[in-house]
Amino acid sequence: MLSGMTAELSQLVADPARVLSAPAVLDRLSHDFYWYSPVLRPLLATKTGDVAVQPINTGELLAILRFAGRHEIPVTPRGAGTGNYGQCVPLHGGIVLDLSLMDRLEEITPDGVAVCQPGLRLAVLETEARKKGWELRMYPSTLAKASVGGFLAGGSGGIGSVAHGGLRDFDTVRAFEVVTMEDPPRVVLHQGAAVHEILHAWGTNGILTRIWFALTPAIEWTQCTIAFDTFDRAFRFSRDIAVGSEWTKRLVTVFEWPIPSFFMPIKQVVRDGKSLALLMIATPQLEALSTTAQAAGGEITFASAFTGPRTQPLLSDYTWNHTTLWAMKADPSWTYLQCGFSPDNCEEQFHLLRTRYGHDFLFHIEFMKNGDNVVIPGAIPIVRFTTEERLNDMIGYCRSIGVFVANPHVNYLEDAGRFRTDNIQLRAKQKYDPRGLLNPGKMISFLKHTGTP
Ligand SMILES: Cc1cc2nc3c(=O)[nH]c(=O)nc-3n(C[C@H](O)[C@H](O)[C@H](O)COP(=O)(O)OP(=O)(O)OC[C@H]3O[C@@H](n4cnc5c(N)ncnc54)[C@H](O)[C@@H]3O)c2cc1C
Repeated sequence: MLSGMTAELSQLVADPARVLSAPAVLDRLSHDFYWYSPVLRPLLATKTGDVAVQPINTGELLAILRFAGRHEIPVTPRGAGTGNYGQCVPLHGGIVLDLSLMDRLEEITPDGVAVCQPGLRLAVLETEARKKGWELRMYPSTLAKASVGGFLAGGSGGIGSVAHGGLRDFDTVRAFEVVTMEDPPRVVLHQGAAVHEILHAWGTNGILTRIWFALTPAIEWTQCTIAFDTFDRAFRFSRDIAVGSEWTKRLVTVFEWPIPSFFMPIKQVVRDGKSLALLMIATPQLEALSTTAQAAGGEITFASAFTGPRTQPLLSDYTWNHTTLWAMKADPSWTYLQCGFSPDNCEEQFHLLRTRYGHDFLFHIEFMKNGDNVVIPGAIPIVRFTTEERLNDMIGYCRSIGVFVANPHVNYLEDAGRFRTDNIQLRAKQKYDPRGLLNPGKMISFLKHTGTP
């Protein structure tokens, strides 16, 4: 069957070299950063697709999906494979649909909307946008590698979210074309509210093939770090900057000690025993920021211009989920959670967590705006892994004290992702993929005709 599948797929793309079945290549294309989770690591390590194929246009993609549909073969889309929790790991074999070659930037419209294919790298888009006076509203810390399609299907927000919210907010994702897994597959344009059927659904209910992604006018940014004696001081200073509408910022991050000690390549900006705030601020506001920081007891330990994705050091490489990577490098027993603290009583929540878990729960705050225009302390705390039971205890306790948790230690959308309570992603799956062939097993509320997810 496998050699038959490879042979048939080779007929469907212009160059058979884009059908890949070498075991090492398949293994690479079947995995992402699932190994961040000590729970998922043993579950997903051996899962692979049977064959990978790299379409270069929608015509090839439609032919591949027609073929897969005819034979009821699972199809798992993949961008750059930087996702967490095995979003693009095929649980039931089949075809890995590698979209990295569909990477054309068609245009940036005069009103600042990028029109592109899904495989376009975010760093390329940021660079091209800045040349025309625009920049990304938000991007994950994996900017250099991650694709636009993978970000929309698997990510949620990142650098820029403190000003512009998450991907689902403020009409940032204007529209996209989606190829369905119906019989036969169709190209369906989603725009306005309809994008939420497919956004952050991990490729379980359609393949994004053409995207309209809103940008924002480019700003001259300075990245800087500020050390504080205590986490409380660092947090309060950062919150004032994040919330204050007079500050133009792209990133406001706070780490309690010892998290900064994990950042070996930038150890010159770290002060022993101190918490660290890391910001991107509009360059004309740097002086005012320094004065405000000093008045709050902070020491500016570094400031330099952001000149685009190739800036060195690129401080965002230490933020969002990159922080977890540095922690795991320092000590593999660290892992992480994805949390949202209450803007009103987060300090009480911090206190309760410290009392219960001591320094096995370290605070890493990423301020972000929500869809109601409120800046909240989002967080990717670094937590000590001992057993799955204790990890689940941490998650349960967080939720019991009002801390939102998207659990990164499960492999399905309903608990790990931002599954919508109005069920529109599920209804879109029932409509566009009734046989359950797209990234099967990741939307567990969907039951296909065999009665399995
Ligand atoms: C170190 C590190 C830091 C990170 N920081 C952030 C962060 O700051 N913010 C954030 O939101 N995320 C973050 N992530 C998660 C991840 O990087 C982002 O979600 C990223 O945008 C994924 O892009 P990708 O191209 O690698 O997607 P992939 O990992 O390839 O795919 C992600 C999901 O989208 C699906 N998919 C891919 N392309 C398509 C398509 N065209 N149509 C339909 N479905 C598709 C895949 O099946 C998969 O389910 C981080 C991950 C790591 C490892």
